[in-house]
Amino acid sequence: HAKALGRNGYCFFETSMNADAREQLQLLHDLRLALSRGEFVLHYQPKLAAPGGPLLGAEALVRWAHPTRGLVMPDQFIPLAERTGTIVPIGEWVLDEACRQMAQWCSADPALASDWSIAVNLSTLQFGNPGLVECVRGTLARHGLEPRRLTLEITETTAMRDAAASLAILQELHAMGVRIAIDDFGTGYSSLLYLKRLPAAELKIDRGFVRDLEHDSEDAAIVSAIVALGQTLKLNIVAEGVETSEQQAFLTQLGCDALQGYLLGRPMPPAQFVETFLPTGMSLDRAASAE
Ligand code: C2E
Ligand code: MG
Ligand code: MG
Ligand code: MG
Repeated sequence: HAKALGRNGYCFFETSMNADAREQLQLLHDLRLALSRGEFVLHYQPKLAAPGGPLLGAEALVRWAHPTRGLVMPDQFIPLAERTGTIVPIGEWVLDEACRQMAQWCSADPALASDWSIAVNLSTLQFGNPGLVECVRGTLARHGLEPRRLTLEITETTAMRDAAASLAILQELHAMGVRIAIDDFGTGYSSLLYLKRLPAAELKIDRGFVRDLEHDSEDAAIVSAIVALGQTLKLNIVAEGVETSEQQAFLTQLGCDALQGYLLGRPMPPAQFVETFLPTGMSLDRAASAE
């Protein structure tokens, strides 16, 4: 605390703090307790080729069920958790919970037709954490989950921050059999040479390029170039933030393999996800009693 508050000390600083800073401090205090109080939950959003089509993947997205504020979205606490280091234990929880859930889904229906995997986001600090690779290995082993059932999403910016170090970590994860996805692609500055060397399986086009796709010819050209690049590198291309059937048609025609967005399905709690996207053979009762 002392460091965040400066030399003036808590009381003086707090009375002179503006409302926003006080709010952040309260949030940080709550955030530190949230994990032990079990307040985080994961919602799942599908990746599909078309609405109603088979599941190609799902992304786990964290939410904070705050006792008084309601469901707090990641944009409101991940940056704070990242600045204060709290993201590391939170991220370990997310990984553990997503793998636990996925292992349960796989065992509840061994005939689970397709090969979809569960995607977990890694922030910059988590990705730079020296314990990451062993943490991933341990988590998979603990839940008996096949590595190919896990996709780790890192943003292009994170991957580029220390390109040589990132490459080494990604190679280790890849060697383990985990899938790597490059998230928010197009917003960073990857060189094509670097991208070529990354052991990635998936490229996710940032939703900033999808939003005005049908009306903005530059966005359309960029998306088309990213798809061409991804195809050359034999990556799976996923478009983020697909909200309209016009965008869907456009992206499919351009050659995107999978789409993610409100049109196909919003992030939803596990029970609703099972009901909507998992084979009917997996009843909620069986899913619940497997715990
Ligand atoms: P992201 O990984 O790029 O995740 C996609 C975000 O876009 C999610 O926001 C999702 O709800 C939202 N989204 C999906 N479809 C649409 C759409 O059609 N329209 C619009 N406008 N938005 C859509 P969310 O859940 O608020 O997460 C925001 C960001 O927070 C994520 O961006 C990711 O960077 C981060 N995040 C989420 N969960 C975690 C986590 O467990 N760990 C870490 N380190 N970061 C996380
Ligand atoms: Mg993501
Ligand atoms: Mg993204
Ligand atoms: Mg994003």
